[in-house]
Amino acid sequence: MQRQKSFEGTSAVLYLVATPIGNLEELTPRAIEILKSVDVIAAEDTRNTVRLLSHFDIKTKLIAHHEFNEQQSSHGIVELLEQGKSVALVSDAGYPCISDPGAYLVKSVSDAGYPVVPISGANACLAALVASGITPQPYMFYGFLDAKESKRKEQLTTLEPIPYTIVFYEAPHRIAKTLTSMLEVLGDRNICLARELTKLHEEFIRGKISEVLEIVDTPKGEMVVVVEGKSEKPQVVTMSMISAKVDEYISNGMSASAAIKCAAKDLNISKNEVYRIYHQA
Ligand code: SAM
Repeated sequence: MQRQKSFEGTSAVLYLVATPIGNLEELTPRAIEILKSVDVIAAEDTRNTVRLLSHFDIKTKLIAHHEFNEQQSSHGIVELLEQGKSVALVSDAGYPCISDPGAYLVKSVSDAGYPVVPISGANACLAALVASGITPQPYMFYGFLDAKESKRKEQLTTLEPIPYTIVFYEAPHRIAKTLTSMLEVLGDRNICLARELTKLHEEFIRGKISEVLEIVDTPKGEMVVVVEGKSEKPQVVTMSMISAKVDEYISNGMSASAAIKCAAKDLNISKNEVYRIYHQA
């Protein structure tokens, strides 16, 4: 066991400083003060962080801390703390460690007995979640799904039974493929696609996965997908609901057998049952 009283000791500290995800005004006064007062700032990409620091006239020394040097760099940062030098870790945007480097460093520093102190600020997951219109808790943050379709579908299959809202990060050039996999594996759930948060072209697209898919051919910018969890309520499925569902898929261009498969998944009943009822109706 280990117990950290963040503000009682006199040792050097590792600060995890959240930085803006777009709008620079979201760097808090506390974050600016910490970034000015530490001995060193460890940054995911020093070129990006230089721009942020110069905007706020922060002149602290920068070192690189990214996924390809994190073990060696963590070792060096623990040595700095041993010398009594405090360090702030920043990523390109939002919180370090959240789909960004930092977790290995946090473990190394806390194992070495130094305090690790978070400095709050912007985070794309939470900004999207609270404005999504989808139940904000319980929720699960997943981050990025795999780029490979087979692996992505495997990951989604594991997530399919979870009755919690799930938040994903995605790149614009992969969003259509990812939503297609979600539609196939999770069924046509309600989602919110949140783009360009805190920026001029911020946008929230709320609707069924199939509806959002129709308009995301060439979406631009950074994006978060908030997906409703699997419904926990036992659903009463009527014959007319089954026929309507299958007809809807057929009218969208699917073959009868593919439509039956999708309807069965959406309504959470067996394919054979849908087949039997559809052809009886
Ligand atoms: N550490 C960051 C955080 O705390 O949110 C996340 C970094 S992750 C490498 C980058 C991903 O976060 C993007 O691909 C996108 O999915 C999401 N993201 C970051 N900034 C965003 C923004 N302004 N609007 C929407 N999504 C954003």
